[in-house]
Amino acid sequence: GQRAAFLASVRDSVGLSLDPRRQPRRPAVAAPADAPFENAADTDPAVARSRRWAAEVLVRDVRVPDGIRIASVDDVDAAVARAHAVRERWAATSPHDRAEVLRLAARHLEEARGDLVATMVQEAGKTVGEADPEVSEAVDFARYYAEQAAQLAEGAVPGARFRPEGLTVVTPPWNFPVAIPVGSVLSSLVAGSPVLVKPAPQTPRCVQVAMGAVHRAMDELGVPRDVLQVVLSPEGEIGRRLVTHPDVARVVLTGSIETAELFSSWRADLDVLAETSGKNALVVTPSADVDLAVADVVRSAFGHAGQKCSAASLLILVGSAGRSDRLRRQLADAVTSLAVGPPTDLATTMGPLTEPASGKLLRALTTLDPGEEWLVQPRRLDDEGRLWTPGVKYGVQPGSSFHLTEVFGPVLGVMRVETLDEAIALQNAPTFGLTGGLHSLDEEEIETWLDRVEVGNAYVNRHITGAIVRRQPFGGWKASSVGPGAKAGGPNYVAALGTWSDGPEVP
Ligand code: GLU
Repeated sequence: GQRAAFLASVRDSVGLSLDPRRQPRRPAVAAPADAPFENAADTDPAVARSRRWAAEVLVRDVRVPDGIRIASVDDVDAAVARAHAVRERWAATSPHDRAEVLRLAARHLEEARGDLVATMVQEAGKTVGEADPEVSEAVDFARYYAEQAAQLAEGAVPGARFRPEGLTVVTPPWNFPVAIPVGSVLSSLVAGSPVLVKPAPQTPRCVQVAMGAVHRAMDELGVPRDVLQVVLSPEGEIGRRLVTHPDVARVVLTGSIETAELFSSWRADLDVLAETSGKNALVVTPSADVDLAVADVVRSAFGHAGQKCSAASLLILVGSAGRSDRLRRQLADAVTSLAVGPPTDLATTMGPLTEPASGKLLRALTTLDPGEEWLVQPRRLDDEGRLWTPGVKYGVQPGSSFHLTEVFGPVLGVMRVETLDEAIALQNAPTFGLTGGLHSLDEEEIETWLDRVEVGNAYVNRHITGAIVRRQPFGGWKASSVGPGAKAGGPNYVAALGTWSDGPEVP
């Protein structure tokens, strides 16, 4: 009876977040606690909404507020000067007032849902099914970080005072071109720092439309636009000027490890808070429910064509799971059943790459290394090299390039081992430690795995992408994270965006 109840609870479990020992030390701020928090996707089921907006998306021509203009070095200097000039005033506003901006921005983002979905579909090639929950995540960030402002108020931490970081540059990625900029920008704003956001060159319109919603909220509340400016710059000199400007106190980066290293090479004392790459594995043991495991593997590996830092790139099969013909067949069936096509086609379940495959990804899509064989071989469907059918390779070798490096696209590598110990060793081998999963219905296996896996987000019997604000604070471990390591969508994120003085438990 007890075991059956346990198994049932495991089957229903959502992802477990991180072992508390690995949470970075933060001041002991009171959580806004018992205030109930409703995630946007729960209050209005995403699927119904998606259909409604999808119909609009196909005909919608999005108005981009303010137009898009590429900044020059002089523009960068002028924007920094404007932000610097309002820095003290913004820091002196009450956290409560700043939170109002976020609450109103949440409403405007919700109202802009159709525009945001349409822009993500058109500009990033996201499917409607991926783009719509991203709007919900952006709304959740806005509302959740608004609640956290209470932690910063005078007296919230006895004897300690919060001082915002100061002028912050946000450089979001192109793969979550709405939720990540919105979360990064609004958390810094509510902490009391003015922000300059530099969209990824691939997705400027997404950022422009999202920040348009925030600007509307600011205008209505009388907040000067100098507090939040969008600076569109190409990479190179202009981006470098922005990131290394002496008046910039902090850079919040979500992107590849290479970009984080590039920024640090530009300015050695740069204060970077970065969420970077991952090489994420899902382990399946013989005790797992194969139906659930295969569905979660496919979703984790091929959602947004694998272009997520959190995506499953490796599947590690333990013992008889690695010899199971049924699992192999089911996996091949599930992968070949994905409907690959343009994102504007509502039947599409896997859309295009945001940019044509090149480098490591192109190699992974077209080449086998010793020991590897295709279970499902990828095919290119367009001339440009953006639309590929998904691939699965069996026999990825320990220590090989596919085992250890991020490829960021629709290829899954399968490894086989005899024991859970060996699986954990392979899972922990990459320098990154972002997400990881285990499918198992064995209590001891789950405990062993949770105790030893070295990732920021550990999920049991759940897909390993799509962390939900507040429920699964998102952030990496090891080389996947640079800086104080507070997790996005987690309880101490805003409190980490500044310094605390004189508090008893301040790090
Ligand atoms: N937060 C996203 C997730 O949980 C991943 C973000 C990223 O790829 O940068 O899937």
